Order: sequence, then structure tokens, then C-alpha cells
Amino acid sequence: MKKKGSKRNGRKVNLRAKFKKFWKLGFEEFNTQDFDINADGELVVREGNFQYNIYDIVKKYGTSTEIAFPTIIESRVRDLIDTFNAYIKVLGYKGKFFYHYVMKVNQNREFVLPAVAEGANLEVSSANELFIVKRMIEQDKFNNRIRVLCNGPKTERYIELIEELRGKGMIIIPIIENEHELERLRKFNGEVGIRVNLNIKINAHFDKKFNHFGFTEEELLKLGKIRNLSMISYHLSCQIEKIDEFIRPLRRAINLYATMREKNPNLDTINIGGGVGIPFEKKRKLYTLKNLINQIVKNAKNECDKLGVKHPNLISEWGTHVAGPAQITLFKVLTDKQVPNKTDTRWYFIDGSFINDLADTWSVRRQKWHIIPVNGLDSTRLQKTWIAGSSCDSDDRYTSSGAYIMLPKLNEDFTELYIAVLDTGAYQDPLASHHCLLSSPAKLIASNGEIKIARKRETPEDVGKLFGW
Ligand SMILES: *Cc1c(COP(=O)(O)O)cnc(C)c1O
Repeated sequence: MKKKGSKRNGRKVNLRAKFKKFWKLGFEEFNTQDFDINADGELVVREGNFQYNIYDIVKKYGTSTEIAFPTIIESRVRDLIDTFNAYIKVLGYKGKFFYHYVMKVNQNREFVLPAVAEGANLEVSSANELFIVKRMIEQDKFNNRIRVLCNGPKTERYIELIEELRGKGMIIIPIIENEHELERLRKFNGEVGIRVNLNIKINAHFDKKFNHFGFTEEELLKLGKIRNLSMISYHLSCQIEKIDEFIRPLRRAINLYATMREKNPNLDTINIGGGVGIPFEKKRKLYTLKNLINQIVKNAKNECDKLGVKHPNLISEWGTHVAGPAQITLFKVLTDKQVPNKTDTRWYFIDGSFINDLADTWSVRRQKWHIIPVNGLDSTRLQKTWIAGSSCDSDDRYTSSGAYIMLPKLNEDFTELYIAVLDTGAYQDPLASHHCLLSSPAKLIASNGEIKIARKRETPEDVGKLFGW
């Protein structure tokens, strides 16, 4: 009897492993190492030895819903800083490393505070983002050793706020983007950075030819001495897919740094911006962070040693890498229907919207997503689907670029299905909108084994108010 039982158990475990592999759950290289399938075929997410049953959560709190996992942010920030520091030590690099969390990626408290708690500095891109920093300082939330970089167009209001916070003793570094800002900030009595539009083409979603950010290398060299200049800064693209696309710009920036140091001896830092990709689709792995950081530090060192110039401090502003995997977005499948003229595929209609809640599907990055069931993860009857959002817009859908999304088949025995879109922590909240006045998703925070409601799902009153009703 006993033997038979354990055999059956063994088979069950094997089956679970097979389903996990199929849905790409439990793999570090896909950022799903904390995701698992329980014995009932439901999605669970772990935080150490705590466990969240996502199916129970959506049944309790309804959909559409986002769940943020601050612990994922913490571990990604910690890992990033530790890895840089480890390679700096091992390779004998003389500069320091500073990580700056990019506010524009996700300004929610539940994202910013865990990053700061693990030692992240901040990068802001507008006066309003800097206002949040001011608030945090006033509430004694931040240690004022924190370093804040200010990108984006400097309105008078923005500059006044920069000056005010600098006056309070903060390390706040405006990154100069153009002649006007250069002139205006001549009076500023702290360090400044300058943004360079590197003369290099990388293979990523970025329009090099008509980049409107910063000074060209030629312009910078003509400027000669820049008062209080400590940093050159660049940002090339998001979702960069090859390590070499980080290394070539870095080498170029180091050469520029070496030349500029002749007239600007206090220049001691290079900010390499953002761009680390995450494998959203989980079809193939990208580079590992360890390898990327190893190559960055090694190449920075070699290039500097070759030029006989002091190793600069390095700054990275990797936003998507840290915030993306820290949130999932959940919807209920409301109903399904045959796709006309495509007999093997069915529309699955959800109670949320790609246009509103996952705007990158159609706007900035034309994102492809990894979408999995929340329940029925052990289904053997599957269906090729296209997913339709709830707004009336014909573009409110996700078809994986005309391919398909595999999901459990709906039938008499299986009528209730929830789905999860993974890696929605970067950019989707700030880009969200209210097409057709649909309500934004509720936001839940999963932390220390408990679920808290950070933002309730909007009521008709809430949404009406936004439009003056
Ligand atoms: C948007 C942005 C980033 C973050 O880019 P990711 O690809 O999300 O890492 C970093 N730096 C600057 C200046 C940016 O504008």
C-alpha cells in the first residue's frame, strides 16, 4: 500500500514540475523563482516561507487588481548593489558605485520606499516627482545622505525646488540638458551633471538620429569648463538586449570623460542611465545581471587604465529591471467567443483594459507580455486565445502580435478563469488612463505574509470626479 501511495505522489510531483515548466514558473532567469503551482493547480507566490494564494486573493478582492511585492524590489536592489560592489572589489576598481531608483518607472510609495530601504538613491524627471522627495524629507522618511539626480526639462518651479532642497543640505544634482539650463544653473552652488547625446548607434528601440536629449559630444567639448561639473550622464534606451550595447557606449563615454577632465578636474562620475531588459515573454533568456555588471566594471577599468585616467564613480539608473517583476496584474475572463475566420482561436474577454491598465501594449514600448492562468494551471485541455479588453476601442486587445496566448479551455466543467499578466511593475501605473471611464485596478500589497489594500478599485463616483462630475 505504502509503496503504491508514494509512487502516486511521485507522479503528482512530476506532473507539477511539468506544468511549472510549461507556464515558465519557478525559473530565476525568467524572474519567476518565487512563483509556483499548488496541489489544486492554483498560482502561488512565495516570500521566504510566506505564501500567497493568488486565486484566493482574487476571489476575495475581485478584479481587476494589481498585486505589488515590495520584497521583490528589495531583493533586486540589494542584489544589484552587492554585485557591483563585489566586482569593484574583485577587479580592483577605484571608483564607487551608486544605484539610483528611477521614480518615473513607478512612483507608488510601495515601490519607492522598499528601494530606498535597501540603499537606493533617487532619480527624478519632473518638479512633481521632486516634490514627493521633498515630502519624504519633511516626514523624516529619508536620511539626507540620499543622493537625488534631477533629469528632465528644468522649469523655473523645478529649479526653485532643486535650490530649496539643496539649501536644506541634500545632495541634489541637476543634470543639465541644454544651453538655457546651463545659463540658469550658473548660480547653483552644488555639483551639477550634464547630459550627453553620445555619438553612437545601439541596436534598441531608440531614435539615435533625432535624439532631443542633452548635448552632442562636439557641443560638450566646445563648452570647455563647466562650473561645478561632477558627472556626465547618458541614457540610451530601454530593454537593451545585448551586453555589448552597454559596453560600447560606456567606452565612448569614458573617452569623453577623459578629454573633459582636462578642463573639468572635478569631473569624477559617469552615469550610464537605464536600459537593462527583463525577459517579459519568457521565450528566451537575456544576459544575467552578474555577467553584465562584471563586463561593465571590467571594461570601465581597462579603458581608464589604457587612457591613464582616474576610475570614475559609476551610477546606474536601472528602472525596469528593479520594478518590472515586482507586480502582477489580474483579470477575470468574463466570456469567450470564436474569432471569426480563425477557427482554432477564441477571444477571451477580460474585466480590464490593455489600453488603460497595460498601456505599453500599444504605446511606448509595444510590450509583449507573459500571461498565465491563476487557476487551472494543471489543465490539460488548452485553448489558443486572443484577449480582448473592456473598452470599446478596437485596439484594446492582446494577440501576442497575431500569434496566440495559450490558456485553459472554458467548458461546462471549467467556467471560472482568472489570468495574471506578469512583470507589470514598470511604467504601467504612471501611463494608465481612463478610456471609456473604466475603473483603474485595485492595488494590493503583499508583504510579510499579509495582503493590504493600498488603493481601492475606483468607484463610479471616483472616476466621475476626475472629469468634473
Ligand atoms: C527612463 C529612464 C531610465 C530608466 O530606464 P529603464 O529602461 O527602465 O531602466 C533611466 N534613466 C533615464 C534618464 C530615463 O529617462
